[in-house]
Amino acid sequence: MQKDKNNPVFNATWTYADAPESTNHIQIKKRYHLYINGAFTEPVQKSYFDTTNPATQEILAEVGNATNQDVDKAVQSAKKAFKSWSKLSGKERGKYIFRIARLLQERAREFAVIESLDGGKPIRESRDIDIPLAANHFFYYAGWADKLEYAFPNRKPKPIGVAAQIIPWNFPLLMAAWKIAPALATGNTVVLKPAETTPLTALKLAEIIHESGLPKGVVNIITGAGETGAALVNHPDVNKIAFTGSTNVGKYIQKATAGSSKKLTLELGGKGANIIFEDAAIDQAVEGIVNAIFFNQGHVCCAGSRLFVQESVAAIVIEKLKQRMQTLIIGNPLDKNTDIGAINSKKQLKTIKNYIKIGLEEGGEIYQPTCNLPKNGNWCAPTLFLNVSQSHRIVQEEIFGPVLAIQTFRTIDEVIEKANNTPYGLSAGVWTQKGSKIFQLTQKLNAGVVWANTFNKFDPSSPFGGYKESGMGREGGLHGLKAYIKFEE
Ligand code: NAP
Ligand code: MG
Repeated sequence: MQKDKNNPVFNATWTYADAPESTNHIQIKKRYHLYINGAFTEPVQKSYFDTTNPATQEILAEVGNATNQDVDKAVQSAKKAFKSWSKLSGKERGKYIFRIARLLQERAREFAVIESLDGGKPIRESRDIDIPLAANHFFYYAGWADKLEYAFPNRKPKPIGVAAQIIPWNFPLLMAAWKIAPALATGNTVVLKPAETTPLTALKLAEIIHESGLPKGVVNIITGAGETGAALVNHPDVNKIAFTGSTNVGKYIQKATAGSSKKLTLELGGKGANIIFEDAAIDQAVEGIVNAIFFNQGHVCCAGSRLFVQESVAAIVIEKLKQRMQTLIIGNPLDKNTDIGAINSKKQLKTIKNYIKIGLEEGGEIYQPTCNLPKNGNWCAPTLFLNVSQSHRIVQEEIFGPVLAIQTFRTIDEVIEKANNTPYGLSAGVWTQKGSKIFQLTQKLNAGVVWANTFNKFDPSSPFGGYKESGMGREGGLHGLKAYIKFEE
């Protein structure tokens, strides 16, 4: 394991034995076609691209590159399927969604391993968070399918039509579940495009969907790069677009759909504030800071990437944080002891390294624990910056990596002003023993989700989404249904 025995913080004479998850039970095909109209279909231009394991650079499989003609085929199949799917009773729709949820649960271990192989996240996270939460989303929305009249009393909710869904690489299966489950529950049909670097679990999901007997064309899954996403966004027969990704692409999509009748929800970037008060339980708060920024290598839209510590406890919090960082295990994502896995792509690693350089050039004081990063693959040590202020780029811009910017504060008003001083508004965290302080703050923080004495907690029944440049619309919970329905006049 990646531990430096010379470090005084970790001078134990033992280390954890390797505990790699087995890969014997998983099946990855050499080549994946597009899932269109209930069949795995060769792309029209017969072109494919590789998806690799970011921890080793090994090629895992090649997947179809969907071009305009494939996008059109997928949208037409969804349009055709909408005619009957939208008329099916909620009870019958629910049965299919429950079946998908159960199949996902049955094959959870296989999905977890493939998620970690394709995206680089620690197996502990894909096994305990991504996959069970994805199944839970299907279970949760399956339950709503026959209760829409109760969700929206006296309003006669109707499905919208063909939903184009575009997702990023940080929670590949979970984001697919967030998108597909509410769309199906409300009677819409779907064309989903996963991210270029992490298509495998979405394609595995296509296999499960196929196995569930879902009528053909109701869910289509097509792989490709940004151009495939753009072709989907611009297709005239798409009625609804659900996009999760960067603010830049979100802005492009908003422009591309302006003046059309396409309904749009955007889940975009963030720069979450994590606020530690002097009366907080310090050890728990330190764990919370680690979870907020180093979970999934910091590839988390709602990561607590800006830490605000009350001045009176700053020294102790920072010292304890540094000690804790020294014990984080970085390395093989498939090892059950691993805390921090591989950076998802070379491109993202370059972006993160560039931000670290910017932080240093702007005068930030860096701390990284001593650790031996693996030789192959994309790796970044957990990093924190002290001596930064609101105007620093690493404080203002989303890095999407394991890099934390730390500032101090004295009063509640000061920290509220600092926390809200960003173009984003996705998440925030507050650590204090005082309930009154929690209520005072949570009402004034411009963030879609505010956690108190915890961070990065998700539940299918809880809505999630942003303010300002973090997007519009909500996913999850009752609110998540709204994005997929219209009301009869
Ligand atoms: P991204 O570059 O915007 O890509 C997101 C998806 O859009 C990918 O499938 C991508 O395909 C596709 N895409 C790229 N250009 C497109 C275009 N012109 N038209 C249509 N689709 C296009 O974002 P990312 O780097 O993958 O993901 C990281 C970002 O997602 C971060 O900013 C993060 O904060 C945000 N995020 C937000 C949430 C949330 O709920 N608010 C959740 C997770 C992530 P390729 O992969 O092939 O480029
Ligand atoms: Mg990959």
